[in-house]
Amino acid sequence: AKRDPGQPEFLQAVREVFESLWPYINKHPRYAEQGLLDRLIEPERIIIFRVSWVDDRGQVHVNRGYRVQHNMAIGPYKGGVRFHPSVNLSVLKFLAFEQTFKNALTTLPMGGGKGGSDFDPKGKSPGEIMRFCQAFVSELFRHIGSDTDVPAGDIGVGGREVGYMAGMMKKLSNRADCVFTGKGLSFGGSLMRPEATGYGTVYFAEEMLKTRGRSFEGLRVSVSGSGNVAQHAVEKAMALGAKVVSVSDSSGTVIDEDGFTPEKLFILKDVKNKRYARVSDYATETHTRFEPNMRPWHIPVDVALPCATQNELDRDDAERLIKNGVSCVAEGANMPSTIDAVKAFEAAGVLYAPGKASNAGGVATSGLEMSQNAMRLSWQWDEVDQRLLQIMTGIHAACIEYGKRPDGIVSYVDGANIAGFVKVADAMLAQGVV
Ligand code: NDP
Repeated sequence: AKRDPGQPEFLQAVREVFESLWPYINKHPRYAEQGLLDRLIEPERIIIFRVSWVDDRGQVHVNRGYRVQHNMAIGPYKGGVRFHPSVNLSVLKFLAFEQTFKNALTTLPMGGGKGGSDFDPKGKSPGEIMRFCQAFVSELFRHIGSDTDVPAGDIGVGGREVGYMAGMMKKLSNRADCVFTGKGLSFGGSLMRPEATGYGTVYFAEEMLKTRGRSFEGLRVSVSGSGNVAQHAVEKAMALGAKVVSVSDSSGTVIDEDGFTPEKLFILKDVKNKRYARVSDYATETHTRFEPNMRPWHIPVDVALPCATQNELDRDDAERLIKNGVSCVAEGANMPSTIDAVKAFEAAGVLYAPGKASNAGGVATSGLEMSQNAMRLSWQWDEVDQRLLQIMTGIHAACIEYGKRPDGIVSYVDGANIAGFVKVADAMLAQGVV
């Protein structure tokens, strides 16, 4: 904490992981050797750079760009790029730290990293978006590469932005190897990458429900967010027979007691992905209820899937969900629940999965995109879907193996933290103090 004043998100993420790890490390003291824990917390490299770009009126803007290369012990740095005004070093360090454990859980050879900028894509023209992406990569390109660091999308960065960044990378490096994932299908993208995080979150929740003899069929589900992860969580939950009653964005929440339908989801995708508009516009078009500035956690549901952003579900929200009978919470976003909220869920016996386990399907499919590009071939939809399902089931099994407490109750928090840690720590110990 002394070294990182003013980095609350990073300290929150480290604290959450180490609360799980202490009892395990006490039983396995070799993990406290070689300065391993200090080395694990400190990013291997942080790059901070100026991004200058020109808007449509000829005015020059300066933003700050970042890449946090956290840990390379098991493979090239891997993690998304976020464009949002709230981006700062604390947020990206927390995300890169979490990413290291998440990537280890997928069992694919990927280290952990994260990057982004405080650039706000809202209200920018397509030309401005392209010029910003190109300006961002004009510095980032010298720090990334298919065997060094492979970025992808995140908040504010979808297929369009990844395309512009990958295009600029190709121009500057004169190479066509895989330096970005989440690419378009026409130039090396993997089928199912856009769907993978949301689908994977629902696959993971389905595994959790199975441990109590249940499935999504007939359950009420609330989803927060309305971007990439949220849309595909809605899609898969619906396909498995659930009634999805909410989505949200930074303007407020839509509540739909009739439940989502494929037709409504089509409209939501059009509003958010093509028109870059608000969920309030979606509510007007579909005659559903819109609650300005609200989050969806006051609605009674069986399953809650937070898919927007960090710290969007606090202790009061958790207590309300518990009182209303929630039985499963699986995070599509990264660290959407505060530490107090997580404690409340676990104390109440709610099946609760932290993002690093339940949302790992996105990066796992990015790992599959890297493999397909390296082999110069592309797998069919069903093959990617099968592998995704297998990876999510594997992560669920690892959480049970490492998270089962002496009383038989499973903590998915402990399970994910310990299983991810063991993989990274063993690799670091084997490679010496570097
Ligand atoms: P998108 O940009 O597609 O969507 C983000 C959604 O969250 C939007 O609905 C946005 O609302 C809302 N949101 C963002 N910031 C805030 C905020 N400060 N307050 C309220 N709402 C907010 O991003 P993704 O769907 O890709 O990412 C969502 C979450 O999932 C993030 O935590 C991300 O790190 C995580 N994640 C994403 C993966 C991926 O593959 N994309 C992989 C693993 C995790 P608005 O439109 O109003 O801004």
